[in-house]
Amino acid sequence: AELDTLDIIVLAAILVGTVAYFTKGKYWAVTKDPYASSFAAANGAKAGKTRNIVEKMEESGKNCIIFYGSQTGTAEDYASRLAKEGKSRFGLETMVADLEDYDFDNLDAIPNDKVVVFVLATYGEGEPTDNAVDFTEFITGEDPSFSLGNDVPLDNLNYVAFGLGNNTYEHYNSMVRNVNKALEKLGAHRIGEAGEGDDGAGTMEEDFLAWKDPMWTALAEKLGLEEREAVYEPIFGITDRENLTREAPEVYVGEPNRMHLDGTPKGPFNAHNPYIAPIKTSYELFNVKDRNCLHMDIDVSGSNLTYQTGDHVAVWPTNAGEEVDRFLDIFDLTGKRHNVISVKALEPTAKVPFPTPTTFDAIARYHMEICSPVSRQFIATLAAFAPDDESKAEMTKLGSDKDYFHSKVNTHCLNISRLLANVSKGKKWTNVPFSALIEGVTKLQPRYYSISSSSLENPKLISITAVVESQNLPGRGDPFRGVATNYLLALKEKQNGDPNPSPFGLSYEITGPRNKYDGVHVPVHVRHSNFKLPSDPSKPVIMVGPGTGVAPFRGFVRERRKMVEDGKTVGKTILFFGCRKSAEDFLYEKEWEEAKQVLGDKFELVLAFSREGSKKVYVQHRLQERAKEINELLQQKAYFYVCGDAANMAREVNTVLSQIISGERGIPEAKAEEIVKQMRAANQYQEDVW
Ligand code: FAD
Repeated sequence: AELDTLDIIVLAAILVGTVAYFTKGKYWAVTKDPYASSFAAANGAKAGKTRNIVEKMEESGKNCIIFYGSQTGTAEDYASRLAKEGKSRFGLETMVADLEDYDFDNLDAIPNDKVVVFVLATYGEGEPTDNAVDFTEFITGEDPSFSLGNDVPLDNLNYVAFGLGNNTYEHYNSMVRNVNKALEKLGAHRIGEAGEGDDGAGTMEEDFLAWKDPMWTALAEKLGLEEREAVYEPIFGITDRENLTREAPEVYVGEPNRMHLDGTPKGPFNAHNPYIAPIKTSYELFNVKDRNCLHMDIDVSGSNLTYQTGDHVAVWPTNAGEEVDRFLDIFDLTGKRHNVISVKALEPTAKVPFPTPTTFDAIARYHMEICSPVSRQFIATLAAFAPDDESKAEMTKLGSDKDYFHSKVNTHCLNISRLLANVSKGKKWTNVPFSALIEGVTKLQPRYYSISSSSLENPKLISITAVVESQNLPGRGDPFRGVATNYLLALKEKQNGDPNPSPFGLSYEITGPRNKYDGVHVPVHVRHSNFKLPSDPSKPVIMVGPGTGVAPFRGFVRERRKMVEDGKTVGKTILFFGCRKSAEDFLYEKEWEEAKQVLGDKFELVLAFSREGSKKVYVQHRLQERAKEINELLQQKAYFYVCGDAANMAREVNTVLSQIISGERGIPEAKAEEIVKQMRAANQYQEDVW
């Protein structure tokens, strides 16, 4: 059997303990940093920590625990914000906890003067996030067994629930809905509504803000809490390490964890530990001046990373130098950017989100999402630290008026430093405690890409197909540029021979911390997905992937091509691809021709160019034209795949498919919709959308 991460951590902890015993701690003095954050402990020695939540609350004196099930960091961020607000407004003793870190069989032993909050994201096709799988299985299971064995097991439990979902997916917010239902069934008492945030409508943040106010009122009433004037209290303490320079071997200058600092990092490579992978080839796929789409082949042969066709690769980006400069400048940290600091949680249950000792520069460049959308709540917090009364008044207005905020901030895609500079007319924000920035700016997140290679053909080469994010927005001087894709563009330029690439004037610390990414490397890990070809290759497949939605289908087609080369028989393989113009953004045109040479009439490419004829033609229209054939293939149990834009395309394809089934089989549309739902449930209809 494979060792899972916990086993490895346990084994590592035993080994470290044994070594420590026999060396009588003599190596510890060298490596131990008295100011070091709990980060290393949190990541390295989980085995020693209790998994008993009741015990944990008792020993740390907490009466409110906020669990998060998070994939991309938003749920975790909301959990931290609730913890902070509960403490500052109501004096609750709050703690944030990763669902993965605790057991749940003693939820029934949490006394009723305490409260448990669940902030739960739904991932993909109604699935729990990776860290919430065990919890979900337990709580929604047939007959969860609890420590006390009471008739109404959770009669003592007070809980609050908020879900993060996306209405463009079939199973909208199913995590919070299912967990809420399960908790109610077990007799737990919910306080306030079970909130639902909708990323699909772009209202996640506002849904959260609108939900939490009445929730706090209900919670205060239930627990008899008095609201007090919220004063800012830092969660993190910052210590200057004047005796250290950034060259010192124990200082993190962007390394993601201890292993990367100490030497060659070993696996397992995962969301806590990226593999620094060489880029083997990279090139531009578009044939047009103002838009870019990258193809990149990443070599993972030097690692134990594996993937299967249809999986996702996560890229760990670094921020553009110009944005790092802007961020440090507005908070008057430019002069101190390379000073070494230690960051420590002042609160035993809080975690510093990056390893320390480190520098302000490294934090802003490698660890903080300094370019992401700004939260309205954070603006309200920063108002207290404005450099003058006028800025303070403007911040208060932005923080309290949602429409004003939207028109001033969101529509221009302003990030925190651009916004603050606009508000104060360039005056620096010298009073903002650095802790407030660690709390208010989220952790820099890896970006996911649907792997566009086939593991059968190339088990150790992972391909990415990524369109470079760039938008001209009215009322904003320069175009908005995405974090990860422009970083990848710079890497591509470097890989093709430019020693100092600066696409669109953006420069990057492209050789990474201590030049460890030199020779053109990019930090990555792999996330396994359920988006898979049928295990029987003779089954027909219908793939719908316009734009970069074609990424996984390049992998699928290459896989089937390889199968044929290996002497296997494959079923009909139809790909619907769409783009603007055949001469501009027709991805992998040559490769499809080569595939046709091998696959013959088993392979068909159906094209939709939206800006060529007098009428806009999209993949959905092409599907409709092929109604008869598609229906026949589905009746032969063809697998149907959709990849790409979740907001519009995937939804329309779903509707069109129902119409096709209804029309061809002569059944009412409602019935056809039911059939499509069943196809999804049986994995005959699979989506990979974003
Ligand atoms: P970001 O900087 O993250 O910006 C992305 C968007 O966020 C912007 O367009 C804007 O709408 C919003 N935004 C960012 N900052 C602000 C701000 N300050 N204010 C307001 N709005 C803001 N992409 C591909 O090209 N190919 C793929 O194969 C692919 N596969 C994916 C698979 C999965 C499972 C997922 C989840 C996503 C996939 N994506 C894919 C999308 C990809 O992960 C990235 O989201 C995309 O490349 C943009 O990343 P970025 O860092 O360049 O842009």
